[in-house]
Amino acid sequence: MARKGPHDGFAAIVGLASEAATRSGGSLVAPASSDTYVFDTMPRKQTSVVATLLRLGLLQKDEWDSALHQVLEISCELVGVERASYWSFRADPPSLVCELGYVASKRLLERGAVVLERDNPEYFTEIRRVQVLDIKDTRTDRRSRSLGTYLSMHGIQSMLNVPVFAGGELIGVLCHDCVRGRRSWSSRDCELALTISHILSSLLEVRARNRAEENERRATFLAQASTAVAESMDLRDAHAVVVRRAIPTLGALATLIVVEGAKVRCAATAHVRPASQRLLSTMCAEYCHDPASPGIALRALRERQSLLIPVADGDTLRKNDLPPRQIDFFETLCVRSMMSVPLFARDAVTGVLTFASDTRSYDRDDLRFAEAYAQQIGMVLENITLLARAREAIRARNDFLLLAGHELRTPLTALKLAIDLLRRKLIEPVLPPVQRAIDKIGQQATRLTRLIDLVVLAPLHDGRTPPLRIEQLDLCELVRNVIRDSADLPTRHGCELRYSSERPILVQGDRTGLEVVVSNLLSNALKFGAGRPVEVSVVGDERRATLIVRDRGIGIPADRIPHIFERYERAASSANFGGLGLGLHIAAQIVAAHGGQIHVDSRIGEGSTFTVELPTTTPASLPPV
Ligand code: ADP
Repeated sequence: MARKGPHDGFAAIVGLASEAATRSGGSLVAPASSDTYVFDTMPRKQTSVVATLLRLGLLQKDEWDSALHQVLEISCELVGVERASYWSFRADPPSLVCELGYVASKRLLERGAVVLERDNPEYFTEIRRVQVLDIKDTRTDRRSRSLGTYLSMHGIQSMLNVPVFAGGELIGVLCHDCVRGRRSWSSRDCELALTISHILSSLLEVRARNRAEENERRATFLAQASTAVAESMDLRDAHAVVVRRAIPTLGALATLIVVEGAKVRCAATAHVRPASQRLLSTMCAEYCHDPASPGIALRALRERQSLLIPVADGDTLRKNDLPPRQIDFFETLCVRSMMSVPLFARDAVTGVLTFASDTRSYDRDDLRFAEAYAQQIGMVLENITLLARAREAIRARNDFLLLAGHELRTPLTALKLAIDLLRRKLIEPVLPPVQRAIDKIGQQATRLTRLIDLVVLAPLHDGRTPPLRIEQLDLCELVRNVIRDSADLPTRHGCELRYSSERPILVQGDRTGLEVVVSNLLSNALKFGAGRPVEVSVVGDERRATLIVRDRGIGIPADRIPHIFERYERAASSANFGGLGLGLHIAAQIVAAHGGQIHVDSRIGEGSTFTVELPTTTPASLPPV
């Protein structure tokens, strides 16, 4: 017999094996190297006990489930009992849960039974106190009496239990149960049980370490995968990244089926072996268009829940209603285990991810990991979808605005041409009122063209400075003109409008742009002014010109003030006041483009004062006229 001795606890096992060999008149020698053992002259039966002990010492610990299974099987053999089981301690509520039990005569595995501390206080006190709990008659012994139902269900008459501790805390119990008559446990039985529990402790340590490492690896994987998917150019690209990123961490293959209205579509597939990729895509495309089709993926989608097939052999797949051709596909791809997890966006199922392994069986932990991946991916895909929709809506809006701008400009160009013609063809002397009317039509046509640039086409600038045509102008005169042009507004709102200005105050500005600012502030003051007087004034010094528009109306709630210049911001109820929430935003953009500032001081029920400050000279950063 020659095998590697991989772990701690091995020395104890070798010691026991050596003792057993000596007791039976033989010996255990290590002639070649320190981890190579040879049995010498021993009766056959003893050889098998020693061999069993050594098997225990040489367990491969990486696969917890199979290692535990082997430990329990070997425990039954060594201690000579019908049943051996390992129970983990859970704190909430304090209890022991059977992780795995082995029934020797039936070669059967059990799990899941629960024993609560509150129902069995004496047993729990004792198991925390002793090294080994050996009970000959479970029915009469006070320490085990309360376990009556469980014991009689399995016919357990004697038991040998060993607590397992980590960091001074009880973490589990290794149980050996005798069902054929009562048994007095010998010190050798206790010694064996203790040794096995040491092996189990080191197995548990490895499992805890593996789990911690695995959790860390998985957390890193999840974070990196979502970032990679989020960086995708579009949805199609994102779908490909979702499956490509999933292999090999989540399986040898991954498929993504997405819901599109009443239909489903295989959006992406990936396989670790490029040679199998084509077969996988063919199968996915063939079976994934009708949501009612059989298969684990579409079932998970229909049932809106994750599904796990730990052992995906032909029989199991047939029981899951998979068509023979699909089963053949999976067999060709050497699939051993499968799981499908739905993707959600808010409450709707948007797709399903399926993973398959060709090397191992998935367990609940794997399913939880896949669910965590699906949860993150579901959100990222939803964001990419929303972003794509928003981009599409912005594109459609921009197309519309460009078209609208163009359509509005065309008649204005014709109007301006007609005015030019009229000016040239008018026979002198032209009556002054006619001349004034013609000039006014010309100015207004020019103004309208600029308004189209500044207001209609403003959203196309996406928050950037709108293009300005800077000239020197008198702000007082500009405000006066706006007030004159909107002479009907105060009457319509039943407000008095008071205007005061000093001597001419010159600024470098875009005439139409500043007219838009004044007219937006003025119309808001009249609209929200509650019929009370509105005051407009312009003051200035050599550095700065200041426009103040003050009303005594409804005011702006304090929490809305910081947002009032944002796009689409509306602080008043839309039932009482119309508007798009764009006027102040456009005004603020234009003021900022002049290198100026706009701010508001407002109190609910007392009114608002909007102040615009403009530099009197052209700021260096502004584009040239
Ligand atoms: P709107 O087209 O909705 O008036 P604005 O951008 O001009 O858009 O104004 C945004 C919001 O700011 C308005 O809906 C209103 O709630 C508030 N607001 C603006 N001016 C005043 C004001 N003078 N008094 C009270 N609220 C105002």
